[in-house]
Amino acid sequence: MNIGLSPAPGQADPQAVPTDVRVVGVVGAGQMGSGIAHVCALAGLPVVLLDMKPDALDKAMATMARNMDRQVAKGAITDAQKSAGLALVTPSSDYAGFADADLVIEAATEKEEVKRAIYRALTPHLKPSCMLASNTSSISITRLGASTDRAEKFIGMHFMNPVPVMKLVEVIRGIATDEPTFQAVQALAARLDKTTAVSEDFPAFIVNRILVPMINEAVYALYEGVGGVTAIDSALRLGANHKMGPLELADFIGLDTCLSIMQVLHEGLADSKYRPCPLLVKYVEAGWLGRKAGRGFYDYTATPPRPTR
Ligand code: NAD
Repeated sequence: MNIGLSPAPGQADPQAVPTDVRVVGVVGAGQMGSGIAHVCALAGLPVVLLDMKPDALDKAMATMARNMDRQVAKGAITDAQKSAGLALVTPSSDYAGFADADLVIEAATEKEEVKRAIYRALTPHLKPSCMLASNTSSISITRLGASTDRAEKFIGMHFMNPVPVMKLVEVIRGIATDEPTFQAVQALAARLDKTTAVSEDFPAFIVNRILVPMINEAVYALYEGVGGVTAIDSALRLGANHKMGPLELADFIGLDTCLSIMQVLHEGLADSKYRPCPLLVKYVEAGWLGRKAGRGFYDYTATPPRPTR
C-alpha cells in the first residue's frame, strides 16, 4: 500500500485504471494492427505502433496512407484529417515507446506463445494503470491475462477486418477483468465509432465460433470435390446472399489465422466437428496464406485472381 499517494476522498485515485484513453499502443503492424492504428489516429489519439519487422512498419504506414486517401476520395474525411491522423502514428521498434500508453492493443500473430512472449517483453515498460487488450480471434482472454502482471486490466478487444470499414468490436472480459477496464474499452469503441457485442470468454467468441467452421466446411467441400473454388464461392454469394464467398473470405482473413482458430476450437471444445480440414493445413504448410501472401485459394498475381483449384 502506498499511503503517501492515497487520494483524498472524492479525488481520482492515481493508481486507478483511467477511464479516458489518451495514448494508445499497438503491437503488431499487420493487417489488423495497421487498421487499429488507423481508426485510433483518426479519432485524434496518439498511437505508438510496434512490430518486430521494420518492413511491416513501413508497409503499415503506407497502407494507412493509401486507405485514408480512399476515405478522402469518398468524402469521409478531409485531407487535413488525413495528415493530422498520420502525424499521430509513431512507428517504433522499442517497447520503451509505450511508457505513456493508457491502453496497449496487441494484434500480433495468432499464436499463444508469440503473444505471451510479447507480454513478457512489454509489461515492464508500461505504467501500472495501463490496460492491455488482445485482438486475438480465438485464444482464451482469461489464460492470456493470467500470463501477465495485470490480469484485472486485461481484456479482449476483437476488431473485424478491415478495421476502418467494419462496425463491430467484440469485447471479451476474462474472469479477472475489472469493471473500469471494461468501461474504458466500451468508451474507446464508441469514440472509434464502433458498435460492441459482449462475448463470454469461450473459444473463438461469437463471430468466429460461427464464421470459421463455415469456412472450414467450405474447404472440406473443396477437398472432397463437391465443387471447385469458383463454384463454392459463387454458390454462397448468390445462393446465401453472402458478400464474399467463404474461400475468398478465408484468403482475406489469412489461412494461417483460420487454421489457428479451428485448432483453438478443436482443442478448446474437444469436439471432432471442429477438426481442421487437411487441405487447409496443406495450404498453410505451403505458405499459401491468402491475399497477404499473394496466393491462397486464389492466385492474386493474376487479374482477376485465378482459382488455385
Ligand atoms: P498479420 O500476419 O497480418 O500481422 C501480424 C503481425 O504481427 C506481423 O506484422 C508480425 O511481424 C507481427 N509480429 C509477430 N510476432 C511479433 C512480435 N513478437 N513482436 C511484434 N510484432 C510481432 O496478422 P493479422 O491478420 O493482422 O492478425 C493479428 C491478430 O489479429 C491475430 O491475433 C488475429 O487472430 C487477429 N485478427 C485477425 C483478423 C483477420 O481477419 N485477419 C480479424 C480479427 C482479429
